[in-house]
Amino acid sequence: MAPIHVQLAGRLGQLPPYLFAELDRLKRQVVARGVDVISLGIGDPDLPTPPHIIEALCRAAHDPANHQYPSYEGMVRFRQAVADWYAAHNPAIGLDPATEIVALIGSKEGIGHLPLAFVNPGDAVLCPTPGYPVYQAGTRFAHGEVVEIRLREEDHFLIDYSKIPQGILERARVLFINYPNNPTATCAPRGFYEETIEVARAFDIIVCHDAAYSEIYYDGKRPLSFLELPGAKEVGVEFHSLSKTYNMTGWRLGWVAGNAEVVAGLGKIKTNVDSGVFQAVQEAGITALTGDQACVAELRATYQKRRDVALAALARIGLEAVTPEAAFYVWVHCPAGSTAAEFAARVLQEAGVVITPGTGFGSGGEGYVRMTLTVRVDRLEEAIERIGKVV
Ligand SMILES: *Cc1c(COP(=O)(O)O)cnc(C)c1O
Repeated sequence: MAPIHVQLAGRLGQLPPYLFAELDRLKRQVVARGVDVISLGIGDPDLPTPPHIIEALCRAAHDPANHQYPSYEGMVRFRQAVADWYAAHNPAIGLDPATEIVALIGSKEGIGHLPLAFVNPGDAVLCPTPGYPVYQAGTRFAHGEVVEIRLREEDHFLIDYSKIPQGILERARVLFINYPNNPTATCAPRGFYEETIEVARAFDIIVCHDAAYSEIYYDGKRPLSFLELPGAKEVGVEFHSLSKTYNMTGWRLGWVAGNAEVVAGLGKIKTNVDSGVFQAVQEAGITALTGDQACVAELRATYQKRRDVALAALARIGLEAVTPEAAFYVWVHCPAGSTAAEFAARVLQEAGVVITPGTGFGSGGEGYVRMTLTVRVDRLEEAIERIGKVV
């Protein structure tokens, strides 16, 4: 029997090819030639989850009470652990676990679903470029209009609200911001958040701050949480995740916190499409958030060493880089005369090093490539030395 004619919905046709799938395909070709490829491509921590967190999962997995459907919004104790974690960072952040926090199956899940709750067809959603591709994908799935907001190096990769036309601000329902930023590895100062809150209030825009990297910072300078700002909870939410802080990308555990109506709206989508996070994973998350934080300090020290080695090596080979303030990326200028895609392809084919072309994060990434700090110091140095031979 002939198979039916399977046709993809139009919304899938609007998406750019998933960047990392493209890179993986090229990488397989180079690996097949026998090259010892070093990947500074995907943003996934190389180090294992700390053992005390794994042990908490194992214990909880044996408890039959955890084998049934969890509540969609997350266990009360998990949400309380999140509230306490914020309060430990800044006692001014008071969150009601019952109404202002919902557990997510990784923050990507919540970010991707949020526009379904608040965006009607044709509503504008402000998405920074360069930026995490999920903001745009989620917007398109909701038939919203993606308005790319350019982040420029001369503005320290912050949004310049004065450059956004009034008419667009009037049509905007949601604004995504992300500091510490992926891919630029820069942070936002208090004044930027204050201005963001002002704009959001003036135009009734829901602010979604993606704070996945808040605990991975350099030189002892801890980035602000959006929720530390007075008025933040009146205009938006913060997405957060255990993925980067505790090397738990595979576990799929995050949260959204802040404005109760926004949290409830996203929760309403979630009750209809998923059934929450495995409780044993939430138990492990509680252990991560409430246990000894020495593992986080250790992780920061590891990345600090790698960042310093990478910056020194990049300077030696004459590639200009934006000094990372946080997150585990280095945002590097392409050599004069080559586009991001050309440079990344040449580095992969001639140096056997995977780096990500800046355009994978939108048009605002042209002229840059992103390197990750998720490999050992010796491999990182070798990778950059190899790149030095082809530039
Ligand atoms: C890694 C990352 C996340 C977190 O993803 P999870 O789904 O929580 O694993 C969110 N935003 C950005 C920008 C990221 O790079």
